[in-house]
Amino acid sequence: ARHILAASVSASSRVASRRHMGSVDAGAAMEKIRAAGLLRTRGLIGGKWVDAYDGKTIEVQNPATGEVLANVACMGNRETADAITSANTTFYTWSKLTASERSKALRKWHDLLMSHKEELALLMTLEQGKPMKEALGEVNYGASFIEFFAEEAKRVYGDIIPPTLADRRLLVLKQPIGVVGAITPWNFPLAMITRKVGPALACGCTVVVKPSEFTPLTALAAADLALQAGIPAGALNVVMGNAPEIGDELMQSTQVRKITFTGSTAVGKKLMAGSANTVKKVSLELGGNAPCIVFDDADIDVAVKGSLAAKFRNSGQTCVCANRILVQEGIYEKFASAFVKAVQSLQVGNGLEESTSQGPLINEAAVQKR
Ligand code: ADP
Repeated sequence: ARHILAASVSASSRVASRRHMGSVDAGAAMEKIRAAGLLRTRGLIGGKWVDAYDGKTIEVQNPATGEVLANVACMGNRETADAITSANTTFYTWSKLTASERSKALRKWHDLLMSHKEELALLMTLEQGKPMKEALGEVNYGASFIEFFAEEAKRVYGDIIPPTLADRRLLVLKQPIGVVGAITPWNFPLAMITRKVGPALACGCTVVVKPSEFTPLTALAAADLALQAGIPAGALNVVMGNAPEIGDELMQSTQVRKITFTGSTAVGKKLMAGSANTVKKVSLELGGNAPCIVFDDADIDVAVKGSLAAKFRNSGQTCVCANRILVQEGIYEKFASAFVKAVQSLQVGNGLEESTSQGPLINEAAVQKR
């Protein structure tokens, strides 16, 4: 017999709101980012920073304070079409390099991400809200994908298969597929991009990235560092703004050969259906249901610590954050009181403040969501 400890826990993960935020000098943080040359607000097409063709912009807000951090280009289908063309042209040169040459550029990108760890983490905390400690952790995590695929780039082996007929030889050759469209969410503004772009670039594909309209600044800063690392103009393009328009353009294009997406199931379904007409390959990481189960024989401290991390990491905004905690009868009372105590000790606040363990939710809609 298990009891369900659910509603009260999910309600407490939504307590973050602007009312609770202390004043923090976000201005100094922005200045630091600007001084490092990493405050980019335009899209990246063919190695050039470009405004939306109609001049439109979209506000990026600090979810801790509601302040506008920057106005970024609000792009749509025309900019996306040009980004695809640029990625397609660059594919013919980037894919012809040796794996070792691509690996060197990726390695350099990794090193630059790591040497700009603080600026990237500040950007993430400012536009996404996660506490600095988590943001710094995400830079390590995000950069590690580039490092890993820089290494793996050299190990894309094929296969030799025993033939079924004596006069045949069966070989599997692995080749880059072409232009990849990568659509990413706001909860991991850096890592969701590097995890998609790293393997694509490593094997010779070129990419059009569409970051979330809530967190484009981290994506643009990372793209700037990619250019500095010697990833050629056009190999990595970034467009953001009107999500359905950008999505539709990526879907319709015969040059885009693969879509990789992390986000909601509803949008994932649209992308899968939209990819059918041109038979694109599709990789989808969609929202899930994540129960956390505590049995009678659990070590209470370990169970509370684990459940707390499962429920409250990134203020409950990760795809594997527990949405139900199921506790066996024998341990229920003990677990529930220890868990409530642990939750009460969480410090809600602005992610720039050191004492904060819970940053704000991404926006008002997330606060209202039931
Ligand atoms: P979440 O619930 O995590 O915000 P979404 O699926 O709404 O998930 O968002 C994930 C990404 O998908 C974001 O970059 C968003 O802009 C993008 N997106 C939303 N709608 C569409 C669409 N119709 N076509 C393409 N991308 C979209």
